[in-house]
Amino acid sequence: KHAGKIRLDDVKENQDREKDKADRATSEQVLDQRTRMILYQMINRGVVSEVHGAISTGKEANVYGAVAYPDLHGAAVQRAVKVYKTAILSFKDRERYITGEHRFKSGADKGNNRKMVKLWAEKEFRNLRRIHSAAIPCPEPIQLKLHVLVMGFLGDRKGYAYPRLRDAAIGGDDADQLWRQLYIQLLGIMRRLYQICRLVHADLSEYNILYNDKQLYIIDVSQSVEHDHPRSLEFLRMDIKNTGDFFRRQGVDTLSDRTVFDFIIQ
Ligand code: ATP
Ligand code: MN
Repeated sequence: KHAGKIRLDDVKENQDREKDKADRATSEQVLDQRTRMILYQMINRGVVSEVHGAISTGKEANVYGAVAYPDLHGAAVQRAVKVYKTAILSFKDRERYITGEHRFKSGADKGNNRKMVKLWAEKEFRNLRRIHSAAIPCPEPIQLKLHVLVMGFLGDRKGYAYPRLRDAAIGGDDADQLWRQLYIQLLGIMRRLYQICRLVHADLSEYNILYNDKQLYIIDVSQSVEHDHPRSLEFLRMDIKNTGDFFRRQGVDTLSDRTVFDFIIQ
């Protein structure tokens, strides 16, 4: 029915051969039987057609590049597949985001890792939906199944993901002007996130913002909280400080954190 070939077994081969063994072990470990079954199911349904190598292997999730053929005649579209790891201790840190989050009231069983990770993936998916609907640049949420989240790919046509803001090559004569513009752009994004989506990112930094062509993209919103979360303003202050510090290091004459805070919440 679908044009794509099943290429899950190529995942290993496609991976960057430079990566050391430990790194490879981490990314293989996440593709356990259960995950593979979910990916096969998604392939059968045409959500993705090929899953390629890892774009990122992190503590809590791996992100893979993927390609889908929406219909037999259509052009291929690129996707990103985020696979949350189901057996990790770092999820303990997430407690502070979950406590007080009314969306977690049912089903949050802290003793059940797999269930927690599923809830975590669900949270990212719902947050992405809200952010995407508000026309804030972010990956388009496409599909969620247990701990596997499929989203739009933020990258070029060759399959290279956009760099994180931290790694963006912004230089030349206009660099100062551009940094200033990006700072202002981010303030607007944070305000819309708060005012329209009623969310605080809660892990916002130059690591969770991608950059391309004068445009910022917000990613990694699994820990984002509703603005009625008891600690949302504390998280907001942290986001403001982290991003403000980053732009100050780039030489931007930023507003005070206090001024930014007032701008966002009022
Ligand atoms: P960890 O912190 O454990 O490394 P994470 O939870 O931070 O993982 P993300 O920040 O969502 O995961 O994604 C990790 C990296 O994967 C990003 O820095 C980015 O380079 C890449 N990435 C994530 N989503 C996309 C996407 N939709 N398109 C392109 N690249 C993406
Ligand atoms: Mn991240």
